[in-house]
Amino acid sequence: MPDHDHDHDADHIHGQVLEQEPAETEEELERKARRLIALSRIRQYGDPALRMKARSVERFDDDLRRLVERMTELMHEAQGVGLAATQIGVLRRVFVFVDAGEDRVLVNPTIATASTTSAIDDEGCLSLREILVPVERQVAVTLEGLDEKGEPVRLELEEPAARIVQHELDHLDGVLILDRTDDESRRTALAKLRPQPVLGAR
Ligand SMILES: [Zn+2]
Repeated sequence: MPDHDHDHDADHIHGQVLEQEPAETEEELERKARRLIALSRIRQYGDPALRMKARSVERFDDDLRRLVERMTELMHEAQGVGLAATQIGVLRRVFVFVDAGEDRVLVNPTIATASTTSAIDDEGCLSLREILVPVERQVAVTLEGLDEKGEPVRLELEEPAARIVQHELDHLDGVLILDRTDDESRRTALAKLRPQPVLGAR
């Protein structure tokens, strides 16, 4: 990230004229618009579905396959790398994620083994748009579950995929990155998420 993004010191003056942003192409604008539409279909912080525990999937039918298709499409349009069913209000244990450029689906996932080594890195979430907070995760995990046809899946994952699946698995238990970060980062994030009071409103 460029240094000036962190510089909130009012006394510090850069003394440089802001460069004008190059005009966006039609393609970029359309991508942006599609992202906003996708985000509007994803439950945002404050929505009770994000705090609920999802139930196991029992039927591997067309409904499940349609759900997986819809989730995969939404994840890409929102430019995310993972999406859990609870984030679209479906309380079932399903998530999709991108693993080294490939789309993956996990139904009824569990972490079979996890490394003892953990690492702290910034995480964002499609349900907490502007927020980026440090979260500690195990650096490697073995993930087990089923695919959308009910076939067993076993994936040995390292960063960043290992981090993504721990994040998505949390969603299925109603856990958000705010619950996993340090107190100060949580306070800062909550202040950002709180609706701003309207001045002069009565
Ligand atoms: Zn998330």
